[in-house]
Amino acid sequence: MTPEQLIALDQQYVWHPYASMDNPPPSYPVVGASGVRLTLANGQELIDGMASWWCAVHGYNHPHLNEAMKLQISDMSHVMFGGITHEPAVTLANRLVDLTPAGLDKVFFSDSGSVAVEVAIKMALQYWHSKTQANKNRMLTIRNGYHGDTFGAMAVCDPINGMHTLFASVLPQHHFVDAPPMGFDRPLIDGDLAELEDKMCKYQNEIAALILEPIVQGAGGMRFYSPEWLKGAADLCKQYNILLIADEIATGFGRSGALFACDHAQVKPDIMCLGKAITGGTMSFAATLTTAEIATSISRGEASCFMHGPTFMANPLACAVANASLDLLERSDWKSQVNGLNKGLNILLQPAKALPYVEDVRVLGAIGVIEVTQAVDLGIIQKMFVEEGIWVRPFGKLVYVMPPYVMSPQDLALLCSGMLSVLERYFRQHHATS
Ligand SMILES: *Cc1c(COP(=O)(O)O)cnc(C)c1O
Repeated sequence: MTPEQLIALDQQYVWHPYASMDNPPPSYPVVGASGVRLTLANGQELIDGMASWWCAVHGYNHPHLNEAMKLQISDMSHVMFGGITHEPAVTLANRLVDLTPAGLDKVFFSDSGSVAVEVAIKMALQYWHSKTQANKNRMLTIRNGYHGDTFGAMAVCDPINGMHTLFASVLPQHHFVDAPPMGFDRPLIDGDLAELEDKMCKYQNEIAALILEPIVQGAGGMRFYSPEWLKGAADLCKQYNILLIADEIATGFGRSGALFACDHAQVKPDIMCLGKAITGGTMSFAATLTTAEIATSISRGEASCFMHGPTFMANPLACAVANASLDLLERSDWKSQVNGLNKGLNILLQPAKALPYVEDVRVLGAIGVIEVTQAVDLGIIQKMFVEEGIWVRPFGKLVYVMPPYVMSPQDLALLCSGMLSVLERYFRQHHATS
């Protein structure tokens, strides 16, 4: 198939994320990926700033990850998890318990981040049911959140920019408060937690859990907030008898500069969701962790078990490669990799601050965000990024990078200077800035 034929058939038959099938945008055929580079069908190489939606932290085609998958395939790619267990799952659960904040001792595996969030919400509901407080069946969350695309997860996404207003009439109604004030280093001031406390105080009898993305709100706005706010929110949860669900699907495994974003505030959530980078960007996989107390209560409740069990639960191939990804995190000193990217991003994106079409530049861990004044036209700007030799996929006003941790300073410099030069050309050609 020529690249042109591939694109034509793709547009005819294949739906892409959040894409039209009436007027489908062309997609770029990729034929390979190695290190931090994607290879297009026409032979062009792109420096990847997205890590495939924040997952490929070790880069592509990593020999250690490939080897782990090959070895596991020769034993078994998959077996059901009902009544059966296997070493890759047991080892992985054990390691996740050791790495995550203290108290998270029980692990439920599933196949995607959204499902991990569904599982977390269900755990909270079954917990309160088992405590004969079934009236505690609403979630509390913060605006600008993103927790996935399934119905339970959608219901706790930002009600306005969450892209899900369409389904408002069938979604369960939860409680929302304003997102925390922006800024990782912003000191907490009086009143910052007032709305949250007010809601908790008023509705503690119906709120099962506070669900939030700790420190970094990802797809809901690429916003960073302070560990102090997170700590304050966690303390309020205890005070008002509300569980805390930390959705670390985007932040987990080092992205924010701590292994888990909760670690910035020494917060110990009652339930934690992991996904995205868990398999180093190789396979769809996720986990929901909780405490022994919650697991035991659920198990002694009316159902005598937790009411969930995906067909591909604890897929051995995914568990094996997740274990290999953890090996690499341990071996490769992820912290200095992330710190290096952090320093580089701070320096390289700095010049954007002065530009008239730039609203804000913010960097945390290995995340660099340029917020522009007007939403960009993805069709136009995507092509410009590819012509520049970089892969960057903005949404709305947010032009950001979350590179693989293994990106060299040279490639990071090319990525950032490419981003700035595309933005300069884009705004000169397509928007008259006032
Ligand atoms: C991506 C993401 C999800 C959803 O994960 P999927 O694997 O796409 O279902 C949930 N929560 C957060 C914070 C995410 O970034």
